[in-house]
Amino acid sequence: MSIQFQIDATRGSARAGRLITPHGEVETPVFMPVGTLGSVKGVSQDVLEELGVEILLANTYHLFLRPGVETVRRMGGLHRFMAWDRAILTDSGGFQVFSLNDLRKVSEEGVAFRSHLDGASHFLSPEKAMEVQIGLGADIIMAFDECTEYPADSERVRDSMEMTLRWAARCKNYFEEHKYDVPWGVETAEPRSAGRTNASAPTRAEATQALFGIVQGGMDRELRRQSAARTIDIGFPGYAIGGLSVGEPRELTREIVLSTLEHLPADQPRYLMGVGTPEEIAEYAKAGVDMMDCVLPTRAARHGLLFTSEGKVSIKQARYAQDESALDPTCDCRVCRRYSRAYLRHLYASNELLAQVLNTVHNLHHYLATMRTVRAWIRAGSH
Ligand SMILES: [Zn+2]
Repeated sequence: MSIQFQIDATRGSARAGRLITPHGEVETPVFMPVGTLGSVKGVSQDVLEELGVEILLANTYHLFLRPGVETVRRMGGLHRFMAWDRAILTDSGGFQVFSLNDLRKVSEEGVAFRSHLDGASHFLSPEKAMEVQIGLGADIIMAFDECTEYPADSERVRDSMEMTLRWAARCKNYFEEHKYDVPWGVETAEPRSAGRTNASAPTRAEATQALFGIVQGGMDRELRRQSAARTIDIGFPGYAIGGLSVGEPRELTREIVLSTLEHLPADQPRYLMGVGTPEEIAEYAKAGVDMMDCVLPTRAARHGLLFTSEGKVSIKQARYAQDESALDPTCDCRVCRRYSRAYLRHLYASNELLAQVLNTVHNLHHYLATMRTVRAWIRAGSH
């Protein structure tokens, strides 16, 4: 067993349910904060738990380079290494290596690339991406795909999609042969912290990771349909929509998401990768997306850009220097309950570390609260 997905309520195209992973249950639709290097920058794991985070995303490319998969595997996998006993999803590394425009070379076999840290040469193939993700030990891992650039002509998009399909089959083959190598899949890998126990849940020694497939096909609706159908033919416990937010207009992103969703199985989780603003994640959840991730809330927070119930606030502005009100009067996060806009503005202007911490906590709370509201909306309208 890897994961189970249960839909408890539907409203229109939207679904509210639960993703049951080897490291706990995740209420869906869910927003997954990004913890690139096994850390959500500036926020400790106990605060993430208090915020109600049930699943985190970590980046394979970054962990592969530093500290390296072997270090993490020997420590019992990413959960034990980062002292996080809830669910984790890792991406395949594909998106990051394709972002290294001048440092990579793509072939049928895989992608040769140079590290952005020290220029050292590395190679990721579908098999290597599986080996690394099995070693890291996230609950959900992703097929190694080619993220097609934008814009691209139709021949290029089709060739890229075809290669992603061949790579998806290679990923599945490797995963099926090696899935019991996961670090927590052996009896010695009991969680260090005596965490939640559930007598009825399968033991982790019996559990495996879940490998999700990724739909590509650029901005071509027909290629997206073909990519979805043929990825489903290969067979995965969940499906992601990849290759979006790569520079295309927002309206086109929306059109491709909505058309691709129609071709994904109704009874399996659907993951939209790397999208978007609070308004967008709410809209996509209502359209039937179950899982989303985005660096926006955490990255924007570090630049003083805060999402509130009244829109965006750029806390660096001088207009907040004497403002005694809470950042967002309707927000019940630990930051808004305690600190004034004037203090947050002062911390930011003074380049205090605490500015990044508090801003990130609020933005994550806002994203998680947005998803809680959507889940309540689905349940309220379900019949
Ligand atoms: Zn707040």
